[in-house]
Amino acid sequence: MDNYIVSARKYRPTTFESVVGQHALTTTLKNAITTGKLAHAYLFCGPRGVGKTTCARIFAKTINCMNLTPEGEACNECESCVAFNEHRSYNIYELDAASNNSVDDIRQLVEQVRIPPQIGKYKVYIIDEVHMLSGPAFNAFLKTLEEPPHHTIFILATTEKYKIIPTILSRCQIYDFNRIGVEDIVAHLARIAAREQIVSEPEALNVIALKADGGMRDALSIFDQVVSFTGGHITYKSVIENLNVLDYEYYFRLTDQMLNNQVSEALLLLNEVINKGFDAGHFITGLASHFRDLLVSKDSATLPLLEVGASIRRQYGTQAQQCPQKFLYRAIKLCNDADLNYRLSKNKRLLVELTLIQIAQLTDETGDVEGGRSPKQAIKPIFNTPQTPQASQAQAQPMQSVRQPDTPTPTVAPAATRPTTPHQPPTDVLEALRREEKKPPVMTMPKLSISIKQTHTAGEATATQQAVAAPLPSAQETAQEFRPFGQNELNDAWLSFAATLPHEQIALAKRMQVLRPAMLDEVTFEIVLDNDIAVKEFTELIPTLQDYIRPQLRNARATMRVRLSEPEENKRPVSKVEKYQMMVEKNEALAELKETFGLELY
Ligand SMILES: [Zn+2]
Repeated sequence: MDNYIVSARKYRPTTFESVVGQHALTTTLKNAITTGKLAHAYLFCGPRGVGKTTCARIFAKTINCMNLTPEGEACNECESCVAFNEHRSYNIYELDAASNNSVDDIRQLVEQVRIPPQIGKYKVYIIDEVHMLSGPAFNAFLKTLEEPPHHTIFILATTEKYKIIPTILSRCQIYDFNRIGVEDIVAHLARIAAREQIVSEPEALNVIALKADGGMRDALSIFDQVVSFTGGHITYKSVIENLNVLDYEYYFRLTDQMLNNQVSEALLLLNEVINKGFDAGHFITGLASHFRDLLVSKDSATLPLLEVGASIRRQYGTQAQQCPQKFLYRAIKLCNDADLNYRLSKNKRLLVELTLIQIAQLTDETGDVEGGRSPKQAIKPIFNTPQTPQASQAQAQPMQSVRQPDTPTPTVAPAATRPTTPHQPPTDVLEALRREEKKPPVMTMPKLSISIKQTHTAGEATATQQAVAAPLPSAQETAQEFRPFGQNELNDAWLSFAATLPHEQIALAKRMQVLRPAMLDEVTFEIVLDNDIAVKEFTELIPTLQDYIRPQLRNARATMRVRLSEPEENKRPVSKVEKYQMMVEKNEALAELKETFGLELY
């Protein structure tokens, strides 16, 4: 390839019209030029690669054009335009504040500002990543921005608008650049592909656009990368391989498996994905997006929110019809929970596996009473053991009948042909199941119908199960509860009560935060205070506090007492420093230890 130019440069827009995906904004800028209503400072905000600098350059060229077209675009022919296009115009000055953010850089710029342009009307100063300017540089710049010479226009660009100080914001006309829509990017890439005589599948361009996340510059550089990999024949398959993007097919297949409660198949699929080198955390966020896309596909009103190509759009439509709305809500919630816990989890794979297991049981409405199993069982056996093939067939059957015969999704093997020999289960999954059985039961109650089964289940439910199902019982329900509680629970309840106090009682709340109730016996706790006023204040608090704290502790006899401290009791260590000092009084060696090792209190 001779004179190879990257597409982002080669196809950089040179007119407002050719800027992709920012139509409203470019129209406004164009109108400002044709009506002569120009501001002295503009602030272009938005994510990277969406056209801020490009628009700034087009703007600079257009306001200096000597021969505007009727559409308000630069002519690209006059002396000024040609100078711009050949990058030798003196009317444009670009400063990248990310690397030139010192006071000297700004002083140099300010010096320049005074000199009027030789040709053309305006000098345009583009300061990219303006939020990176140092504090003194900002101040040096502010003076110029307050009283700019009439021939200067500043265009400040930033990806982080919230970092711009208000004094700057208030002096600028602000333009917010949007992420460029997937459709717009795909259309632009398709145009370039056609011009470069590159064969491309629309789905492949769609994946590139999604990967670029709304940035045209990124989209074009990915495009270049893919072109060089594939030798000018861009297929969906080659793109997902090159970009390490997970194929949509996995999510479609997995969703089918989940609707059919095929837990073991789902776990094997996860294994396949992980073996391909994909991160389990990305997989679960991808799954959440998949469920979200299914959800928006269910309703024609939300369909525009689906950013996929035409053929996959149909596939979404088909699968969405098979997914009960409730299933999607819960599945999204479970994925989201897993995503939130992912970073903290010590066994990340297990977390993802558990999530898949839970989702795969959401549509399992056969209830917990089937086969005389204990109703306590939260999670059903995931492996098709030879003893219960009928049961698993029965579970799979309802969904199979809903499935449309011409669905393009890879169909799941019918229950009957599924292997009946048990898979060798990964040990961590079994461990998960053991743990899961101790957890609150997954709610798989049939919806909108009261069947005999359900009443049966409810009747058999044990007291503990009810307690777990309703973790926050109301005051009446707990009136008769006398659960023993410990100091830690008491402390938690105490602090959470303090947090409920209204703003007028902030002083009291603060005081509560440093006080700790002391347990006298299993239901009574005491607060010791050092003055009468506080004693009175806390005594008045007793009824409200008890009302709050009893349901929290699930003990209707929890009682608070308040008393004034004895003289020798006054020294109660509150802070760590005080505790340390009291300990040193008892044992001086502690101070020596601290000195010797240079320890500090935290
Ligand atoms: Zn011109």
